[in-house]
Amino acid sequence: MMTVDFRSDTVTKPTPGMLEAMWSAKVGDDVFGEDESINELEAKAAAMFGMEAGIFCPSGTMTNQIAIKCFTQPLDELIADQTAHVYRYEGGGIAFNSAVSARLLNGERGILTAEMIEPEINAENIHYPHTSLVVLENTVNKGGGKCYSLEQIAPIAQLCKARGLKLHLDGARIFNALAHTGDNAVDYGQHFDGISVCLSKGLGAPVGSVLLGNKATIKYARRLRKVFGGGMRQAGFLAAAATYALDHHVERLKIDHKHAQILADELAQCAWVTSVMPTETNIVLFDTEGPADVVVAKLLEKGIKAGYTDTKRIRLVTHLDIHPEQIEYAVSVFKSL
Ligand SMILES: *Cc1c(COP(=O)(O)O)cnc(C)c1O
Repeated sequence: MMTVDFRSDTVTKPTPGMLEAMWSAKVGDDVFGEDESINELEAKAAAMFGMEAGIFCPSGTMTNQIAIKCFTQPLDELIADQTAHVYRYEGGGIAFNSAVSARLLNGERGILTAEMIEPEINAENIHYPHTSLVVLENTVNKGGGKCYSLEQIAPIAQLCKARGLKLHLDGARIFNALAHTGDNAVDYGQHFDGISVCLSKGLGAPVGSVLLGNKATIKYARRLRKVFGGGMRQAGFLAAAATYALDHHVERLKIDHKHAQILADELAQCAWVTSVMPTETNIVLFDTEGPADVVVAKLLEKGIKAGYTDTKRIRLVTHLDIHPEQIEYAVSVFKSL
């Protein structure tokens, strides 16, 4: 029986070419700034997004949490969508690491607008937490991989500049967003103070995220990374995999999107599926008649691994270890259920 793992785009294994790149990585002690492969990755990622500097971290959670700490003071408040990863899936780190509160908004599938944000910025008043940061997520994980375009981001960036707020992007799947919108990565730099880019999701590297920002931000981020326990030594083996992914796995994201679209279209035809969220990138969210955990168990019997996010909602994520014949097989199973 074929197995197909749709649980997440984090389940990918390094490709032969990536392993090759890892073997030949030049490494050194990165806490001393001496790992050539890490320095190369940080510079490359920063240049791609039009930012001054970057820092390689063990996870996207760490890059987001460091960014929040960089851009706030204790007792401040940040603004984010209520589905935001920084709030829902980072273990309460906003409160613990930064002593900051979160003002959560009801975006459209996680997408915020300047009009939604503006009235939520607190006036200067000792009763109110000081609003200092807005966090956007692109693509929106819980919004089924929905994308912001740069056109939607620009007015938010403008508002933040006018009101003295920092703007951070949780870009765990930013390359998926760019593949969908056709926007240029380099144009992102002018809008954001911080950008987290995940290398171990759709890009297929085994470990790591980078945080991008200006030189002063990244200098402070280096201090924070050490404090958070994320100062790594000869981690250039991992950085080499990430650089390989930036060179070879960005273009192919369109394939994952095509696969997700096929799954979404076929699921929409199935009687046991009540609704499918419109799919833009590599995430398919759909609702079922019966309890999601029962359906997920039935799929597993046929070798298909899926996740569920709600009592009736199932999530499928496509990635570079999902091939056309696996999509075909999955479709045949969906039809037979
Ligand atoms: C996966 C993810 C992260 C970071 O996750 P790590 O597992 O810590 O690397 C951050 N934001 C979003 C939206 C994600 O999907």
